[in-house]
Amino acid sequence: MSKKHFLGWALMLLLLAGCTPDTPENEASAHRNDLVLGASARDFLSDEVFTSLELEVVYVTGYEPAQEALQSLVTFLNRYTNKPGGISIRPRAIASPEVGTYSIEEIKNVEKKNRTVFSKDEKLAAFIFFADDKSEDSEEKHRILGKAYMNTSLVIFENEIDEMAGSVSKSEIQTVTLHHEFGHLFGLVNNGTPAQSEHEDPEKKNRAHCSVEGCLMAAAIEFSSSPLSFLEDGQAVLDFDDKCKLDLKANGGK
Ligand SMILES: [Zn+2]
Ligand SMILES: [Zn+2]
Repeated sequence: MSKKHFLGWALMLLLLAGCTPDTPENEASAHRNDLVLGASARDFLSDEVFTSLELEVVYVTGYEPAQEALQSLVTFLNRYTNKPGGISIRPRAIASPEVGTYSIEEIKNVEKKNRTVFSKDEKLAAFIFFADDKSEDSEEKHRILGKAYMNTSLVIFENEIDEMAGSVSKSEIQTVTLHHEFGHLFGLVNNGTPAQSEHEDPEKKNRAHCSVEGCLMAAAIEFSSSPLSFLEDGQAVLDFDDKCKLDLKANGGK
């Protein structure tokens, strides 16, 4: 894996203020999948309850995620989570739900109808939906590429990514979006995983994001100027800054 700084990207991704989550409850009922975002942070990070992780990847036919993006996700998860039993991916295509732009309620309905992998014994399960349209909350200047919406669930909006791809490839945008949304499942910032230092974005609409410029968990991701970007298997990837990394370690992660 080559790891070097990667500067000079032209594109700025306005990802993420749209993924501001609900207030977490943090009661541990480890095997449930209907809890608020961040509630399973420690279950993802540590091996105390779950020693392996299975990702159910459901995509609308024609919107299959790039292999590089899924491979990079496994590398990323191995880097930050303690899962000695391994991390596996189970991809599956479905027909379009034909709802047009998606509300979170509609996304949750898709999950209800299509999710088949659930946490069991020592295996933690997560659900990833590659949607065939945008978020209904997306705007020209405020694009929403993905959203982690419950404790083990996230969605990626493929139409949005298609439109943004250019100097940055589609698989690179998928990769960074997947990693960012997993950062939310990991409870960052201060949303299930307590911040060890003050680095939560002070703007209310950017809650649960990182105030360190260039961090993977920044509300608006800037490829162009991030000193935390690097090349991995030929793909440009962003990483967490040291403050986010420390939070993950302190909550049972690597
Ligand atoms: Zn976010
Ligand atoms: Zn950070």
